[in-house]
Formats: sequence, C-alpha cells, structure tokens
Amino acid sequence: MGVKVISVLENILQANEQVAAENRARLDAAGVYAINMMSSPGAGKTALIEQTLRALSPQVRIGMINGDTTAASMDAERGAQAGAQAVHINTGGNCHLEAHMVRQALAALDLSALDLIIVENVGNLVCPAGWDLGVHARVVVASVTEGADKPYKYPSMYRGADVLVLNKIDLLPYLDFDTEYFLRGVRLLNPEVQVFQVSCRTGEGIQAWSAWLRERAMRNRPVRIR
Ligand code: MG
Ligand code: ZN
Repeated sequence: MGVKVISVLENILQANEQVAAENRARLDAAGVYAINMMSSPGAGKTALIEQTLRALSPQVRIGMINGDTTAASMDAERGAQAGAQAVHINTGGNCHLEAHMVRQALAALDLSALDLIIVENVGNLVCPAGWDLGVHARVVVASVTEGADKPYKYPSMYRGADVLVLNKIDLLPYLDFDTEYFLRGVRLLNPEVQVFQVSCRTGEGIQAWSAWLRERAMRNRPVRIR
C-alpha cells in the first residue's frame, strides 16, 4: 500500500506567501516602504535602527516592528525612545517572524503617519530567510566580530539579501576579520547585493546607508490629493 505524504510545511509556507502578499498590498496602498532586518544575535540591528532614526527622523516618519522570542521589549523601547512608532511582537519562542505576525503589527500602527517601517526580525541566520513578510527589501546585518565565513555557512540568508550592512568596522584594527574574504563570499552568492560598511558606535558609514533608505522611503510616498 502506498503512503500518502502531506507536506505540512509546504502548506504553511503557501499560507505565509498569501498573507505576505496582503501585507505588501496594504503597505503599497499606504505608501509605506518596509524592510526586513535580519542578523545573528548581537550583530547590532537595534543599534542600527537607533542610528537610522537619528539620521532620518522626523523628515522620514519611521515605524519599528520588533520581533523577539519573549516578552522582553527593550529593543522596541529603544526604538520608541529614538522616536519611532514601535510595536513589539512576542513570537512565543518561535525563532523567526512570519507574515501573519507582521499583519497584526501593521494593524497596531498608524500607517498614514509613516513613510518607512523597519522590521527587526528575531536574531537568527537560518530560518528567517525562508519567510516572506510582505516587505520591500531584505537587509542582512553582519558584524566584524562574527566569523568572516558567515556567508559560506549561511548561504540562503546572504543569497536572498537586497542589502548587506557590515557593522562594527571601528573594531577592525583589533580583529583578524578578513573583509575581502567575507565580501568575496557575499558576492559569489549574490552579485547584486548593495553593501554598506558602518560603525553604529562612531557613526561612520551611517549617512550612506541612511541616504539609500531615505531615497526609497520617499520615492514610495503616495501623492496626497488636497
Ligand atoms: Mg535587537
Ligand atoms: Zn525559525
């Protein structure tokens, strides 16, 4: 007798795609540009969001959706303190955000008062890459305190990125991080990716990254009929 195999994961991913498409349509209708920020824990996503807010707010009106595995909402609070409309998602232990979680967060934000939403995903370089959230760009944050072999070890994360931000470059003189080897791996997987090298501590490179983001957030702004 044959065995029927039902791919539960495939069904779940299909349902996720559907909700992601709805999220994207909703953002587009509101003229809000959104990015999905992903990294391993400690690469500096929240610090980058703080620096971005400092560079762009209040001209660019920014919302932050922060996903964490617990109720600990200090990252969202840092965003709020820096001037963002911030929503914290407690994934209840889930190691990545899914589109339905972002849908709930979008409902809690006033989209008419925003130009840009930064989604801070759960710190994890594996499964967040597989879940479309319905945003416009995927931003991977890496840091020079991690191994330069990260692109070789986590290819799907780097392959799917639109932008790569390499953070903590102020520490390069004290580390053996081989930037050339790292970037070669990134380009092998993803020749199109846009790369920014920054230090959230000294502010180096933040302006170039922020200008890229500002351009996109303002381009997406709908023409308001008075
Ligand atoms: Mg964080
Ligand atoms: Zn996961």
